[in-house]
Amino acid sequence: MKELEDLKKELPADAMLVEACYEGCNVVFYTKNKNFFIKNEQVVRQLVSKLRKRVEIRPASTITTEPDKAKIKIKKIIPTDAGLSELIFQPEFGKVILRAKKPGLVIGRNGETLDKIKKETYWLPVVERVPAIDSKIVDKARELTVGNPSFRKKFLNSVGKKIRLTKSVGNEWVRITALGGYREVGRSCTLLQTKGSKVMLDCGTGYGSKTSYPYLDAPEFNLQDLDAVIISHAHSDHCIFLPYLYEYGYTGPVYCTEPTRDLMILMQLDFLDVIKRDGRKAPYSSQAIKKSIEHCIPLGYGEVSDITDDMRLTLNNAGHILGSASAHLHIGEGLHNIVYTGDIKFGKSELLDSADPNFNRVETLILDSTYGAQRNPMPPKKESNAGFIKSVKDTLDKKGKVIVPAFSIGRSQEAMLVLYDHLEQFNVPVYLDGMIWDATALHTAYPEYLSKSLQKRIFHQGENPFLSEHFKRVGSSTERENVINGESCIVITTSGMLSGGPVLSYLERLGEDSKNKLIFTGYQASGTLGRKIQRGWKEIPINGNKTVRLNLEIGAVEGFGGHSDRAQTINYVGKLGSRPKKIICQHGDDAATFNLASTLHKIYNVDTCAPQNLETVRLV
Ligand SMILES: [Zn+2]
Ligand SMILES: [Zn+2]
Repeated sequence: MKELEDLKKELPADAMLVEACYEGCNVVFYTKNKNFFIKNEQVVRQLVSKLRKRVEIRPASTITTEPDKAKIKIKKIIPTDAGLSELIFQPEFGKVILRAKKPGLVIGRNGETLDKIKKETYWLPVVERVPAIDSKIVDKARELTVGNPSFRKKFLNSVGKKIRLTKSVGNEWVRITALGGYREVGRSCTLLQTKGSKVMLDCGTGYGSKTSYPYLDAPEFNLQDLDAVIISHAHSDHCIFLPYLYEYGYTGPVYCTEPTRDLMILMQLDFLDVIKRDGRKAPYSSQAIKKSIEHCIPLGYGEVSDITDDMRLTLNNAGHILGSASAHLHIGEGLHNIVYTGDIKFGKSELLDSADPNFNRVETLILDSTYGAQRNPMPPKKESNAGFIKSVKDTLDKKGKVIVPAFSIGRSQEAMLVLYDHLEQFNVPVYLDGMIWDATALHTAYPEYLSKSLQKRIFHQGENPFLSEHFKRVGSSTERENVINGESCIVITTSGMLSGGPVLSYLERLGEDSKNKLIFTGYQASGTLGRKIQRGWKEIPINGNKTVRLNLEIGAVEGFGGHSDRAQTINYVGKLGSRPKKIICQHGDDAATFNLASTLHKIYNVDTCAPQNLETVRLV
């Protein structure tokens, strides 16, 4: 390619390149000059500022030390208390992935340990943090993320080439089509189209007794024409349907953060398990999950990446769950800018920092409207924490059991943190059932995505609440049985909206005893059992034809949720780097989206709408 040939000329004459290529939107040079491989910071810095892209210099396979020998050398260099557990050599990329409990010790002061590894082995070391909690399914997920490097190299090269293939000119237009998650909470899916490209934002399933899927049969949508997919976060209503695209022939990239990628695998594997257990037909195979991970290009917050020939993507923290992101899409050369918020929390929680509204230009905002109709503001976090603890304590004082249904990612860890900080008030075990244990393990692998205050506790005070011995895993039906028959306790369990999962077994066995309590911590979507119980249902069908009479107390904590309340949502719009010209309200029921659309129109005097699924809105 001509562009790459020109770039080569920017490098020193003795760079001894064996290959220059695009990997995704990054430019990568492979060199056989050992000195240039070890020392190239200045050249790279100049190139990066010129190209405004990531540039990497990697070793050619002819200069890397033979893996067995390199392994011995690396083990000698890295201090033993770093907890190095795995070395994965990927000759295709000239990389060695070093997995360790304490990455800081692998990196060394100012990166000196890594430099030493480079100098002594001529491999490019890449450090990954090993979760501090054991989980087989997390191990499996992380194995998938490094699988099939030879395929990945070819794939990343082809993505890079494709982005530069064509540049559309003249008669430009931009539009979005609502494929799911409009005037509802569930199956989020938006198709963004320009003259030159087609990108999907999220691909989830619906809640409710019958799982619903996005409208991929809409005439606007053609799988073969899709250029890229962006996943905002790992909740089922945003990511579970992704492998379906790969099952039916999509071969393009999916962009998301690293924690989202890993959490997504857990959710998708669990989804297949549940479907199989129910004897239903799965919409995709486990092979499709593997394929989607092989096609995943992870991005960090703030990293700018070309994803098609006319779109540039940046992800910002969305404050909703670990790794959750809002996507900023810069279209054309300044033609249009879109922010798709995904689910956002514009307010700090124990777990995460507030959503980041710092986007320079926004013309269209596609906005999470979950609580758009709820006029009462959520109580301050301190107050809701205190309410939660009091509610828990009241039940424990009566020797009852507390059941907290929660999504495995997000609300569970938030509840764990609040409980941890009040452990002195009750001395009972907190059981974690469903995927919560595994999702928590991944929280320990990505502490840099947690709130600054929590990072401070983990890194500077040596106190990681997730590792407390008060948290106990329920890993089998026998263990569950023991919890049910055992002493007074707290159980945090899936599913968060009571649409399945172990929470139903707890309700079945503990629901009739008035000493016990069920505490909701998050939004209950319409059609779910959670919503019905909140509305006052007392006789509930569980496990087929059995009916359980609910005598246990029902409580709810407000302000615990991962979404902004109405006031925070309005505030978020005002805090964006620029005032949007159009706001599209989605991820909320009829009342929430209409209400928010009309309020935002009045406050900010901008064009707002609340389209329904299958509608198309033209933006340019
Ligand atoms: Zn979510
Ligand atoms: Zn959602």
